[in-house]
Amino acid sequence: MADSYAADPAPPSPLAVQAIDPQFDRLVSADAKVHRLATGMIFTEGPIWIDDPAGGYLVFSDIPANELKRWSETDGLSTFRKPSHNANGNALDAAGNLLTCEHGSRVVSITEKGERRVLLDRFEGRRFNSPNDVVVKSDGTIWFTDPPYGLPRNEWETLKELPGHFVFRFDPKTSQLAVVARDLDMPNGLCFSPDERHLYIADSGAPRNIRVYPVNADGATLGEGREFAKIDVGGPDGIRCDIRGNLWSTSGDGVQVFTPAGNRVGRVLLPEGGANLCFGGPSGTTLFITARKSLYSVETNVRAAAATTR
Ligand code: MG
Repeated sequence: MADSYAADPAPPSPLAVQAIDPQFDRLVSADAKVHRLATGMIFTEGPIWIDDPAGGYLVFSDIPANELKRWSETDGLSTFRKPSHNANGNALDAAGNLLTCEHGSRVVSITEKGERRVLLDRFEGRRFNSPNDVVVKSDGTIWFTDPPYGLPRNEWETLKELPGHFVFRFDPKTSQLAVVARDLDMPNGLCFSPDERHLYIADSGAPRNIRVYPVNADGATLGEGREFAKIDVGGPDGIRCDIRGNLWSTSGDGVQVFTPAGNRVGRVLLPEGGANLCFGGPSGTTLFITARKSLYSVETNVRAAAATTR
């Protein structure tokens, strides 16, 4: 279920980094080890690193298990929240509260002081399809995608209330919710460039590509989008920009990495298809990857573009 539609089953591949272009070595050392940190889950998604004075930790979703998981170097794997309303993508808002896209409830929720409540559940009176992934801009606005993957596939046409698969922007200061993109087949992961002048959106539907949109001078609307890069094994799902503007996308073979110009320079090869990823860890340079039943990590030489993970 969930994003299993996004990518073909991955052929077996080693845990390894693979440079396509020598400049990839500056992002990930050629001898970097890829670790499988945990396994035994069903379909993992939506990782977010949370800094904490007592020790940082990763929160991520096991969508079909209806569970938010927690992982840290010291404590290993545990349950963060169950039931999770089939949580998928996660992000932190400007105040550090957890935002969660929920398939089961078809909402974006917010968790403040440990209390979960519905933040957004409909647009112009119509329920969302199933919010998939969410990112927060430095001005505090919340941007999220809404494909129907979280609904039973044979009931899409009866359950869908909106006339399309949109990308939304919500401004907590004004409570205004607006559609910012409606030209994608299956909008999925999304992230801003480090300067927030561009928004990247993964289309895990028929195009299996990543599109890039200029953010207009108002900071709130998008110009015309274009194809930025195509994933050549499976399709894209979660995406992140690093601080240098390179784009990291999950793919059927793990992770594929593109320069700001859209050239594929390297891969992180996994034995399971990648579904989502984020930077984190004590130094902010660890790449965490949720991939089907497992959680993986690899140490990099870059950190996240500020607005895309925290
Ligand atoms: Mg996704």
